Formats: sequence, C-alpha cells, structure tokens
Amino acid sequence: MKKLKFLHSLKFRLFLLMALAGILPNLALRAGILMSYESRAVSNRSIDVLGQAKILGNQVVTYGYMKDTSLEVINAQLEMLSTIYDGRVLIVNSSFQIVKDTYELDTGKTIISEEVVKSFQGEEITKYDSKNRYIELAIPLKKEGLEQSLGVLLVSVSTDSIMLNYGYLKDNALIIELASLVVILGFALFWSGRLVRPFGKLAKYLEEVQAGDEEALMVADYTETEAISDAFNELWGRMRAIDDSRQEFVSNVSHELKTPLTSMKVLADSLLAQGDAPVELYKEFMGDIAEEIERENKIINDLLSLVKMDKAAGTLNVSVVNINELLELILKRLRPIAEKQNIELVLESFRPVSAEVDEVKLSLALNNLVENAIKYNKPEGWVHVSLNADHKYFFVRVEDSGIGIPEEALEHIYERFFRADKSHSREIGGTGLGLAITRNAVLMHRGAIKAHSKEGEGTVFTVRIPLMYLV
Ligand code: ADP
Repeated sequence: MKKLKFLHSLKFRLFLLMALAGILPNLALRAGILMSYESRAVSNRSIDVLGQAKILGNQVVTYGYMKDTSLEVINAQLEMLSTIYDGRVLIVNSSFQIVKDTYELDTGKTIISEEVVKSFQGEEITKYDSKNRYIELAIPLKKEGLEQSLGVLLVSVSTDSIMLNYGYLKDNALIIELASLVVILGFALFWSGRLVRPFGKLAKYLEEVQAGDEEALMVADYTETEAISDAFNELWGRMRAIDDSRQEFVSNVSHELKTPLTSMKVLADSLLAQGDAPVELYKEFMGDIAEEIERENKIINDLLSLVKMDKAAGTLNVSVVNINELLELILKRLRPIAEKQNIELVLESFRPVSAEVDEVKLSLALNNLVENAIKYNKPEGWVHVSLNADHKYFFVRVEDSGIGIPEEALEHIYERFFRADKSHSREIGGTGLGLAITRNAVLMHRGAIKAHSKEGEGTVFTVRIPLMYLV
C-alpha cells in the first residue's frame, strides 16, 4: 500500500495528465496520416492506371488488335504499361478467351470471373486488394456507337512501391514520435514538479511555524494557496488568542489568590513584631485574618464552579424543574442580605413555568444575578425579578435601582475577574467571577443573556432559556 502512495500525489497525476495529453494526439495523428496516405496513394494510382488503360483500350479496338495480336504499336504500349506500373495486362475477347497476357502465361485460356462478366455488360471496375497488395481494373472494350462490348481489358498493378513509401513514412513517423515522446515526458516532468512546488512551500512554512517561527504564513503563488494561507493565519491567530487569554487567566488567578494571603501575612507579621500586644488587638487581627480566609475560600469556590461550567455541555444534569419555585427559593435565601440594606425584593411570576434544566447550575446563575442586583444597589432601593415564558423559552428579568454599570465596562462584565468598580466590589466581597459563571451556565443551556444599564439609575439583566433541553 505504501509503495503505491505516489499514485495519490498531485505531482504524479499532473505528470500523467500532461504526458497523456501529449502522447495520445500524437499516436492518433500518426495512425490517421498513415491510413489516409495509403488510401490516397492507392486512389491516385488507380486513376492513373485507369486513364492509361482507357487510352490503350481505345487503341486496341481501333487497331483491331484482338484479331491480330502481333501488332507492334499496341504490343509496345502494353509492354510499357506493365513495366511502368509493375503490372500485368490481359485482353479477353467476346468468347471469354484470353488473347493477350503480358506475362505470356495464360494466353488462349478462358476466363469467366465476376469482374469480366460485369465488365462485358459495360461496367468499369476498380478493386484494391490490400492483403495481396494489388489494384485490379476491368474496362469494357467497345467500338464507338456500338452497344455490345468486343472484349475486356484486365489490368492488375502491384502497389508494392506504395507500400514501400508507406513503410518509409511509418518508420520516420516512429522516429519523430519517439523524439517527441522524450520531449513530452521531459516537459511533463518539469511542469508537474513546478506546478506543485507552492504546495511544498506551504508544507515547509507550516513546519517552520510549528517550530516556532512567528511570521505570518503567505504562499500567494495560486489563489488556492493564498486562501489556505489566509485560513491558516486566521486559525493560528485564534489559537494564539486562546493561549493569551489562558495565560492571562492564570496570572489573574494567581494575583487574586495572592491578595488575601498578602493581607494575612501583613496582619500576622505586625502582630509578631509587637511582641506583647493586647488581647483586643489579637482578636481584632484574628478577625481580619478569618475574613481574608473566608475571601480566599470564596475565590476558590467560584473558580471551581467556573471550571465545572467550562466542561462540555454533556455534563449538564438535566431534569424538569419548576422555575417559579426555584426563583422563590433564591429570593428567600437572599432576602436577609437585602433587608440589611433596606432593599425591597419582589418576585413577579406571569405564569407557571417548568423547564428541562440543570437545577444546580441554573440556580447558581440566577442567584448571582439577584445577588449582584442587591450588592450593587443603593440603600432603600429595589430589585424586581420577573418570570415569563412563551411556547419555546422562559425569560427571567432582574432589574435593580442600583449604581448601574458604566457603558465602557458593560462589554467586559462577563470576563473573569472583571470588576467595574474594583474597590467597591472588593469591599462587598466580590470576586469578579460571578457573571462569568452565570454566562457559562446560560450558554450551556443554549440560552442567552443580555444586560442594559444606565450609570446611577440601575441595571436590567435578561436571561432567555429554552423550555426543552436540546442535545
Ligand atoms: P463580582 O464578584 O465583582 O460581583 P461579577 O462577575 O458578578 O463579579 O460582576 C462583575 C462586575 O459587574 C461587578 O464587579 C460590578 O462592577 C458589575 N455589576 C454586576 N452586576 C451589577 C449590577 N446589578 N449593578 C451594577 N454593577 C454590576
């Protein structure tokens, strides 16, 4: 199988195509020329001989040669005809008797062949026997004005000389053909190599890119290779972007995890440096350290949720869930936080909704939205959560009267560790991962999430999820 691999190469196929395109017409041309040469030469020879034979026939009749075959004038001409055309002439009289045979073999014999009979009836006959290589002619001998034939003149001439020329032509054609075969094969070899060269170039560049060459790939020899180069560059760019974002994520994670650790170290160090610090200070600092540990814990938990969400959608644990109850539960859990800031928390259900969802993941996603609406609110503010559905989707809308999101930040809010207002978010215990988790969970359900916000006035998040989970 491996040995035949070259059969699949473009170079070999191009070579074959060009070689065949060169050789086949060549062969056809040679066969055509040789064939038409033979038929043309035979027909020329027949016309010549027929002309001569007719003249001779007339003289035979005029001189009454059939009665007296010793007539020198005619004999000389008969001799000439048979010598020039390398042939034999027979003169047959009305009783089918051969009165003259230039070969002197059959004089006096009777001949009743098809041609002779037909010719007696007035027909001129020309026949070419290609196997035995001769042309046979039969012409009636008639006196002018008379219907009846006096006899028949039979001429057979050899076509050996034609065949000799034919052979010569054939040999020459073969030599030319062999010479052109060499040229064609050389041409095909050269061009097939040349034409596939850009693909080789492409493969070489790809190897270089793989080996670490950062330059953009471009083989513009053909439109096709240019398209391949473009497509590759785009793919390569996308892969690099993914790589960059992964690196950024890792450095963000390290940074976020280090911040609480640094705070703890500072707190612990300052306690140690004081030596005999009062118990109250210890308590206070320990409280702070516990808070930082809590924070670290939250970041790690959020990261774990995010990693879980990043996995394939196949990991969704789908079941039919009553969404009204799910939202009621979320609001019940968050109500104490809202009450702390005197924020009014309202749920409005337009209809009962049951959908095929992953309860844990969707609950986490909606929880984050409502929690944000409370966290980024103003004291005495409100949060409205509403649930509606049509025949295909259900919609959850979370609206708040909070601080809003600046327009330039709106497109980044789903990025990991992004916070519109860093210090405020940290103050209220945000990790910057909540919305990234929410978006991933919504996308896993093949849903969509949108945010509208006006700084200082409030924010609206709308989530749309299909009622039926489609694999
Ligand atoms: P965080 O843990 O900081 O809340 P999120 O991913 O949940 O992280 O949100 C990202 C940022 O988007 C938040 O830091 C905040 O600045 C902004 N944000 C999210 N929800 C709201 C909201 N309802 N109102 C105002 N800002 C919001």
